[in-house]
Amino acid sequence: MKKKVSFAALFVCVLAVCALVLAGCGGSSSDSTATDSASTDATATDQETTAAATGDYKLVEDGKLTCISNLYFPPFESMDDKSGEPVGYDIDMSKALAEHMGLEVNWLPSQAFDSLVPTIKTGGTADIAIAGMTITDARQKEVDMSDPYIDSNQSLVTKVGSKETMESLDDASKKVAVQAGTTGEEWVLENLTNATAVPLDDIISAMTGVQTGSYDALVTDLPVASYQIKNSFADLQIVESIPTGEQYGIAISKDNPALTAAINEALAEMRTDGTMDEIQVKWFGSKL
Ligand code: GLN
Repeated sequence: MKKKVSFAALFVCVLAVCALVLAGCGGSSSDSTATDSASTDATATDQETTAAATGDYKLVEDGKLTCISNLYFPPFESMDDKSGEPVGYDIDMSKALAEHMGLEVNWLPSQAFDSLVPTIKTGGTADIAIAGMTITDARQKEVDMSDPYIDSNQSLVTKVGSKETMESLDDASKKVAVQAGTTGEEWVLENLTNATAVPLDDIISAMTGVQTGSYDALVTDLPVASYQIKNSFADLQIVESIPTGEQYGIAISKDNPALTAAINEALAEMRTDGTMDEIQVKWFGSKL
């Protein structure tokens, strides 16, 4: 009997240590998680592994890298028609990141692109936004951006047969569709100052609108325009590549610097172990 009691006491101690490790890792926000997990002895070992893998950053859901995006930006992110699951370059990136960090990946439903940074800034919903998101000074004031993981530029797109040029479009009678809150929108506002910029929810609506004649042109990220014209919008054309020299990064809350560090570490590993090349070849046919 005495022996049993001391074994139980020892077991409680082990759980208490797990709780302390988890509490220490997660800071104050994960105190309740630590208590919950410590009280479930069956998962104590799993929780301990997770705690070891997660360093000292906070996660919205224990053991999971919870991601948000606007899922209308192929090939970076879109919804697979058949499975209803998110697919794309950024989805593969998120899975590889999670794997390198010893976490599972958890994708939340699509949301408007211009709501992603505010959501990350507010906290509590998702750990990262991975959304073909250009690293900009304005965004870096609101959230942390990871190290860059791919280069990008803008492009001007019209319907095949259209005679519009950059010059002809710079006129109040011309409608140029953009995705609200993007660097493409910013570019149009700064460079086609006379044109009527039409901000839309997503770039698929912009492409469909140019196709049907609602808009004279659109400006979007070059890799997205190229991919979409090749795969779904054969009647659109790239009139001009616009060398903006953008780089995509992952948005993380400024309250979670340890997560930014862990993401950057995982990105560095993925750069050297061939994972990044593999994802680029899968979605673009070659290393970019
Ligand atoms: N790269 C652009 C930006 O960051 C567009 C991103 C997007 O539409 N998903 O603004």
